[in-house]
Order: sequence, then structure tokens, then C-alpha cells
Amino acid sequence: MLIQLDRIREDPFRWQETLDFDADSLDRVELKSLSTVRWEGVISFVDPGFYLKGFLSYTQRLACDRCLKEITKPVESPLELLILTYLEKPAAEEQELQETDMSVIHLEGEELNMAQIFVEQLQLNVPMKPLCRPDCVGLCPQCGADRNEQTCDCSEPAADPRWAALAEFKEKIAER
Ligand SMILES: [Zn+2]
Ligand SMILES: [Zn+2]
Repeated sequence: MLIQLDRIREDPFRWQETLDFDADSLDRVELKSLSTVRWEGVISFVDPGFYLKGFLSYTQRLACDRCLKEITKPVESPLELLILTYLEKPAAEEQELQETDMSVIHLEGEELNMAQIFVEQLQLNVPMKPLCRPDCVGLCPQCGADRNEQTCDCSEPAADPRWAALAEFKEKIAER
């Protein structure tokens, strides 16, 4: 969806749509899939610039960073943007400084690419290291057992990588 901003100077533009989006195209291993996304909002002329207020609502399925268990997470994501075109640029510099809590987009022309904003929001809503619960202890690196549910007889791996490096070094010496 491309929006011609010059048409919004008179009347605000409102939208409400439901979109299906392929989670794979976000290229995030943590993200398994997305439900249909409800995406709505309004863009109005605020002089200088345009003010976009939007809202995304959907469910994302993630893999726990430690045990790989699937996590279903509802997302209710509000969005506020100040959009400045080349026409507003000089006048808006000052105002922009006062509105540091709001994201600002600069456009070279008067055409706003809504798909780009939409995808960016989905991307931002994927947590860096999702966890099924804050104290998830993860999988055993040796046998793959889920340590949240069972204990295994594997010996604890060296916790500190420096010790692992030292052990490797000693082995090398022993080989000589
Ligand atoms: Zn987990
Ligand atoms: Zn184990």
C-alpha cells in the first residue's frame, strides 16, 4: 500500500486491514509463525509533517531460546510516527528535537510505503531471546534432554569457556 501524502493534507487517511504475513521472510530463527495480523490506524496532517497513529494485533509463535519449546505470544503493538517530507524538513527541525519520544521518518518524496512500516513493526516485535519462562534451564548440550522436565546423568560441561580452552591446551601438550 502506497499512500500519497499530499492527499491527506485535506482529510485524514484511515485504514483497517487484516494481513497474512509469511514469518520466514523476516529471517528470524526465533520466530516460527504469525497469525493473521490486524493492522489499523490513521494518518493526519499536523503541519509540519504527518502524524501516524497505528495499532497491530496478532499472535506470534516463537521458539524458546534455551529449550526450543514453542511459545505462543499475543502482541498488541501501538505505533506512533512523525513523517516528514522534503517540504516540511526545514520547518520541522526544531519541533523534531522536542519530540524525541516519537520515531521520525524522513521521506524524499510525498509517497509513504505502508508495507515497509508494517514489516518493520513485525520485526521490532520479535524478542531477541524469547524464553518459555524466565528460569528455563534449557536442554542438556550432551544428550538433548529437557532439563526442565528431567535430569540426566551427563557430566556438567565446563561453565567457563576459559577452562575449556585450558583443558584443550593441556590435551595438546599431552599429545606431544
Ligand atoms: Zn524454555
Ligand atoms: Zn544429558
